[in-house]
Amino acid sequence: MALKIWMNAGLVDEADAKVSVFDHGLLYGDGVFEGIRVYDGRVFELAAHIKRLFDSAHVIRLPLAMNRQELGEAVETTVKANGIRDGYVRLIVTRGTGTLGLNPLICKNGNVIIIADTIQLYPEELYEKGMRIVSATTRRTHPLAFPSQVKSLNYLNNIMAKIEALDSGVPEAIMYNHEGFVAEATGDNVFIVRDGVVLTPPVEAGGLAGITRGIVIRLARERGIQVVEKNLTRYDLYVCDELFLTGTAAEVIGIVEIDGRHIGEGRPGPITRLLREAFDNYARGRGQ
Ligand code: PMP
Repeated sequence: MALKIWMNAGLVDEADAKVSVFDHGLLYGDGVFEGIRVYDGRVFELAAHIKRLFDSAHVIRLPLAMNRQELGEAVETTVKANGIRDGYVRLIVTRGTGTLGLNPLICKNGNVIIIADTIQLYPEELYEKGMRIVSATTRRTHPLAFPSQVKSLNYLNNIMAKIEALDSGVPEAIMYNHEGFVAEATGDNVFIVRDGVVLTPPVEAGGLAGITRGIVIRLARERGIQVVEKNLTRYDLYVCDELFLTGTAAEVIGIVEIDGRHIGEGRPGPITRLLREAFDNYARGRGQ
């Protein structure tokens, strides 16, 4: 079924949702975005996503024609117009139409695009059995070259690592930073469990400050589980008791093998399963 897409000032038919070939979002990946889940008709953590989008836009000096409130309302309107109960929202802000040169300051009509659709999830079986992943040779962009907290339209670095994963016949890959510490997966944050303690790399290692990551850290601490933000090496991943990834689309997913090494018992471990369930309850507004 054709969707209604939010284009700047209101909803248009999918067939009319178009941007110029001179939009710098297309020409240079010059823009920012968010991926947001809808659970039971509620837009999940909307305020946090809007904040991260505005922070990303601020850093790349991309002015928005809408304020936070208006943008939040536009997301809600788009979700309702498409009758999405459980789905995914893609919120995109492009630099707008410029010339073939790099200069972003002459770009006009930056586009605010909102797509609300159903979501293709990993199969339930993968959550039960756990996922296999590999280490990518592609290094995560150094945070001093470009801050990893900015969720920009330029994902080529992560896409290179994703290709490595797919070449190896697995869906995800771990990306390390230039020092060899874990940064993140291609579209998710990384956690391990060692001796009952949950460990995750600090954002400064080069990952995105994931909204799911933040929630999972809080849910763990609320349950008396110690969480430590600490640099992790490939060795740490190989010898941990549990390994899991977090992200808007994947939620909490257990990893059972990395680079041919089994993790723990060969199925998602108890803390992974506990946090997956806690996250699911929280996302669906069920009792804590
Ligand atoms: N890292 C990257 C590169 C991502 O694209 C995502 C997905 N947005 C994440 C981590 C996880 O972040 P979040 O929990 O906010 O979806």
